[in-house]
Amino acid sequence: MPIELPPLLASSTQEGELYERLPNRRVRCLACGHRCPIPDGALGVCKVRYNAGGRLLVPWNYVANVQCDPIEKKPFFHAFPGSTTYSFGMFGCDLHCAYCQNWVTSQAIRDPDAAVTPVERSSHDLVDEAIRSGARVMVSTYNEPLITAEWGVAVFQAARAAGMATAFVSNGNATPEVVDYLRQWVDLYKVDLKSFDDRRYRRLGGRLAPILDSIQRLHDAGIWVEIVTLLIEGFNDEPDEIAALTRFIADVSPEIPWHVTAFHRDYRMQNPGDTTPQMLVRAAEIGRLAGLKFVYAGNQPGRVGDLENTRCSTCGARVIERRGFSVLEYALTPEGNCGSCGAPVPGRWGVAPTQRATNHTHRALGSEPSV
Ligand code: SF4
Repeated sequence: MPIELPPLLASSTQEGELYERLPNRRVRCLACGHRCPIPDGALGVCKVRYNAGGRLLVPWNYVANVQCDPIEKKPFFHAFPGSTTYSFGMFGCDLHCAYCQNWVTSQAIRDPDAAVTPVERSSHDLVDEAIRSGARVMVSTYNEPLITAEWGVAVFQAARAAGMATAFVSNGNATPEVVDYLRQWVDLYKVDLKSFDDRRYRRLGGRLAPILDSIQRLHDAGIWVEIVTLLIEGFNDEPDEIAALTRFIADVSPEIPWHVTAFHRDYRMQNPGDTTPQMLVRAAEIGRLAGLKFVYAGNQPGRVGDLENTRCSTCGARVIERRGFSVLEYALTPEGNCGSCGAPVPGRWGVAPTQRATNHTHRALGSEPSV
């Protein structure tokens, strides 16, 4: 057993499904774009999946954080607006972003400062708690859900049986195999597209190509995809890069919502200034020029004009008015048609939100995660 893994995590495992056996008791993990070849007794790059005697063991039956959040916080703007999500996270990540806003859980295995105590929970415990909390959507988030995909599916199977929808909030560094594995069980998928520059992605520990490929595959699989880019001065805010990034999304589908959100200093990235509303508005304009129909600016409630609202792309009527994570006005039919012209608005809708609370965040355990 790998000595690097904390004892509770080493015992909270079961054999994974997303791997193939190689000669000499080596395995290849297929859960993320790293496709780690792992010798017997070693950990993958994420430091939570490991080879024990030629079998890949993966995280199981614990959580590091659970919390009830509005779905707008994830952010999903075209899926069950005003709903409460039950969000859970485990430990570890396949990337190591210096500005991670969930570093307490994502970097817990790498960083001794990121001390959070895991708690044993079965998939049914989580669903029972979610239902008691009034949650509509079960979300795997806070750390990278791809590296715990088998556990995520186990939770989602129980959630679906209880009538819930399911979602991943992910860096998108997937593989064709994991997209196939998830497609039956994941309704919504948020990809954090951090840059359109492969050199930048390599600094974060990843590559751009698997992420772009995954966005296309997730969309083709019929999963509802929304994309977020945290805008960071000097990192990804060059107009040419934003134009290329948003043209790529528009080529996959101009109906994919793109959220450009404001950076604030966090974790090990303390140098760039906080992103201003003006920077968000400029980036959003580039996204619109690239052909995207639904562009939103986040983390600056009330300071970005109309960029928190949804407008019908056919007639221009405002169909959802938001402020921060709150839905203020709603003018869509249960089928998701514009209340003015009747044109369909892409997304996953359902009954209109009733009066939703402005802040229905409820922390269940652990520290305060961000999405
Ligand atoms: S999830 Fe990714 S980083 Fe972790 S072992 Fe598998 S391929 Fe490697």
